[in-house]
Amino acid sequence: MSRQANLKHTTEEDFEMFPQLEIPDTLAAGPGPGNTDPRVLERFAAAGVADHMQVDVVRGMKEAKFMLREVFGTRNAYTFGVCGTGWDGLDCVFSPILPGDTVVSFVNGTFSGIDDFNIRLKASSVEELAKDPMNPRPANVVTIDVPHGESVTGEIIEAALAEHKPMWAFMAHFETGSGRVNDIQGFNDACAKHGAMGIVDAVSSLGIACFSIDDYPAVTSWASCPQKGILGLPLTYAPVSLNGKVIDLVRRRGCYTYVHHPILEARHWCIADGKDVETAAYHRTHSGYAVASFHEALRLLLEYGREQKAEDYEFYEKGLRNAIEAMGCKVTSNMPSLVVFDLPEEFTGKEKELVGKCRERGFAIWPTLSEPTQIRIGILNQLTVGALNDIVGRYADAMTEMGATVDKGRILDDLNSYLSSR
Ligand SMILES: *Cc1c(COP(=O)(O)O)cnc(C)c1O
Repeated sequence: MSRQANLKHTTEEDFEMFPQLEIPDTLAAGPGPGNTDPRVLERFAAAGVADHMQVDVVRGMKEAKFMLREVFGTRNAYTFGVCGTGWDGLDCVFSPILPGDTVVSFVNGTFSGIDDFNIRLKASSVEELAKDPMNPRPANVVTIDVPHGESVTGEIIEAALAEHKPMWAFMAHFETGSGRVNDIQGFNDACAKHGAMGIVDAVSSLGIACFSIDDYPAVTSWASCPQKGILGLPLTYAPVSLNGKVIDLVRRRGCYTYVHHPILEARHWCIADGKDVETAAYHRTHSGYAVASFHEALRLLLEYGREQKAEDYEFYEKGLRNAIEAMGCKVTSNMPSLVVFDLPEEFTGKEKELVGKCRERGFAIWPTLSEPTQIRIGILNQLTVGALNDIVGRYADAMTEMGATVDKGRILDDLNSYLSSR
């Protein structure tokens, strides 16, 4: 008797095989994931079947590691990719935080809020975790809440670190929830002045803004993600970079994870004892497909040029922002890859309905994930005249359908005269 036949009696009698899964191509115009470049998809599909110790897979990881150092602007030996999504990279850079460590974390939206939650999980004692397992509130973590729609400023950071003098400080560079850029120079300076080790969520800034992390030496740890500025496929590698100070700390104190252990995971990227080495040490089974596509995404970014890309994001964001404002919406963000805005007052409350209609048509924009409800439109990998026209045109149609008076022709004319001004 086959296992299949046995199973049949325990499930629905009329079970039929599902058809192959078809996923449509949508216009990813949200905060992320961005539209994957065809070259990245091509490398993914063209990779042969090869295991995680095969010489070209390992070579690809080494080359990706060197490219990542360029992308981050760093000489940190511990610069590599953590398998998974942005949260995997962040989990890796938070893992050196041990129960009882003092932390000040700055929260100004959905993502820094989740980061703060992960920090509280790590910094809690066993008793504190047991007291409220799904939302522990250890006294040693001070969360500074900055209102949605506002940036974390140097003054806010300086005041909090001067008062609390923590071992660690945390901030998101770009808060994608509200579309706000936070003050990275102010964060670095306050960390240096008050002796805190800085951790930064650079998920939405790496590959979008041009900055070199070695210019911010008091920030010991940085984490990003595969699918925003890097424009690889989701679930490949989350770039991280940790400096010698935090690696020494981990060497002395250890941390409570195998899979996201910064020293152990780095071994597979041929990093050992603070140096590049020839041979990879098994940490987990890497995918040749993931390595090949991630490698191509990094090549694309470096070919384009970090500075050029940052300039282009700023230029195209301005075009999108002007068009959205010309439709009567109020933009509250200042991020170069994303605009976050309120509908004109008479349509307040219709944000989710409008976003839902756009998404049904494959125009994948987003609402905010935490209150207040706003609309988010992003331009990851949309840095062309055609793509901007498509996004603005589809959004203008959605506004018109909702009942707004929108002069689409004039808005597109203005957009194109702006885009041709360069
Ligand atoms: C998207 C995002 C994350 C989470 O990344 P995933 O790839 O979804 O795990 C974390 N932080 C910020 C600032 C983000 O924008």
